[in-house]
Amino acid sequence: MSEPVADIAVIGLAVMGQNLILNMNDNGFTVCAFNRTVSKVDEFLANEAKGTNIVGAHSIAEMCSKLKKPRRIMMLVKAGEAVDAMIEQIVPHLEPGDIVIDGGNSEYHDSNRRAEELAKKGFHFVGCGVSGGEEGARYGPSLMPGGSEAAWPHLKQIFQKIAAKAEGEPCCDWVGKAGSGHFVKMVHNGIEYGDMQLIAEACDLLRKAAGLDYDQMAEVMDTWNKGELDSFLIEITANILRFKDENGKHVLPQIRDAAGQKGTGKWTCFAALDYGIPVTLIGEAVFARCLSALKDERVEASKRLPRPNVDASKIIPDKHAFIHKISKALYASKIVSYAQGFMLLREASQQFKWDLNFGAIALMWRGGCIIRSRFLGDIKKAFDKNPALSNLLLDDFFTKAISEATDSWREVVASAVRLGIPVPAFSTALAFYDGYSNEVVPANVIQAQRDYFGAHTYELLSAPGKWVHTNWTGHG
Ligand code: NAP
Repeated sequence: MSEPVADIAVIGLAVMGQNLILNMNDNGFTVCAFNRTVSKVDEFLANEAKGTNIVGAHSIAEMCSKLKKPRRIMMLVKAGEAVDAMIEQIVPHLEPGDIVIDGGNSEYHDSNRRAEELAKKGFHFVGCGVSGGEEGARYGPSLMPGGSEAAWPHLKQIFQKIAAKAEGEPCCDWVGKAGSGHFVKMVHNGIEYGDMQLIAEACDLLRKAAGLDYDQMAEVMDTWNKGELDSFLIEITANILRFKDENGKHVLPQIRDAAGQKGTGKWTCFAALDYGIPVTLIGEAVFARCLSALKDERVEASKRLPRPNVDASKIIPDKHAFIHKISKALYASKIVSYAQGFMLLREASQQFKWDLNFGAIALMWRGGCIIRSRFLGDIKKAFDKNPALSNLLLDDFFTKAISEATDSWREVVASAVRLGIPVPAFSTALAFYDGYSNEVVPANVIQAQRDYFGAHTYELLSAPGKWVHTNWTGHG
């Protein structure tokens, strides 16, 4: 068997695995590459990895023999059964203290289970969220590792070196126990759904309410990208808006308006429902994609259902002022979305005793990933100032930011409603804000109804903890 020369093994030579290996190699680590279809190892060594220090293995036994101890084995294989199948094959070759890392988009319950199963056998499991796609994997992803904490000192140097940097800091830190890394990655993806929907709604308003053409919209996005909305998604949207095909025609209006999804947004909603946290904006973003996918039905309905017949210029007398107001509505909605995302993280942290570090999570998302933005630096500052902050909206910076935006936000949502422009994410964020900032909401009506038809009892404001039933009908 071979000499142990490799610092880490990566299993899975599809796009993510290959790029992460090349990134590790660039950063001075010796990587051993392995893949289920073994021929891909030789192909990789002969092509993309040619001239590098990357070594290959043709079996798991050979891969393990090439690794320094404790062994670090990172899987980048298809999420789901493939991960269990691979772990099953690796385990017989491991020694106590070896580390198995799952860098795929695994569901966090699976990672909780795998962490427990491997810990019982004396091995360390790390579920690591990896964001940034192919480009991120190659040149600096955002990495969100969680699981067996004893593994972290053995991974820290490699992970923080290959990760993206934001203001000199690596976008990678220890997240917490068990499946917390994958949970944080899942919430990241949910927030990504929210950000994308908000930008899509802003585009719709710029076009249909403010009457801009695609190049003008791109210019607006360029301007927004220089201020508080500065982010990767705004930047690429500007590029998309101005992109033309070989005939000089904008590509965007040629794209069928039916959004796809792979499921991580939906998982975030499941978690929100499981833990009773009102993550309404991500929910609306997922449902907006579902509604968009009903293209054929929408085409039919558009011929039959009446729509407002209003002249936008009557509702929006000052177009330039309105464009600024859209940016404020977008910013305020985004604050609400992140506040909701962090509410979910807080609840999961408490339920699973993960002890999540929210400031570190904001920093992990600050660079390398799809939701990277200047805004995440402000979130990090808020949690650095007060790690026990109960809600982002209650941080001084964000309270001020949102209060400066509320008038514009209300005007934009109201104008959209009058014009019949759907703004589900903008409006659900505003509804959340109005609910969260209201001392009294009409849940007393619901409690009374529940008691009326089901004798569920209700609590009196004057006697907290005292549950009473009323005979509402006078019948025995
Ligand atoms: P992928 O298409 O999700 O998976 C392909 C890899 O999985 C191949 O190496 C394949 O091996 C292996 N595989 C499939 N079934 C297997 C099984 N039953 N046993 C062992 N290996 C099996 O690859 P990817 O796009 O590079 O993504 C890897 C992981 O990263 C996934 O979990 C993905 O969700 C996640 N991720 C992807 C991106 C992205 O932008 N692509 C971004 C972030 C995270 P064979 O060659 O033998 O078929």
